Amino acid sequence: MRVTVDDNLCTSIGTCTRICPEVFEIRRDGLLHLLQDDPPESFRAQVEEAADMCPMAAITIDG
Ligand code: SF4
Repeated sequence: MRVTVDDNLCTSIGTCTRICPEVFEIRRDGLLHLLQDDPPESFRAQVEEAADMCPMAAITIDG
């Protein structure tokens, strides 16, 4: 599973970080960072929920 975030769409609201903090993190710079762009299958449900809940539809999952 490959996770990408479109920086042009992401507004760093942080919904994804609350749903799956193991993958998504907002740092002191105020920007979203991916902690893992190829997370294990065990995170799939959380990552998919984060993508579904992202208000900007900025998260893409491949594979
Ligand atoms: S939920 Fe979407 S817009 Fe908000 S920080 Fe995550 S990727 Fe960015």
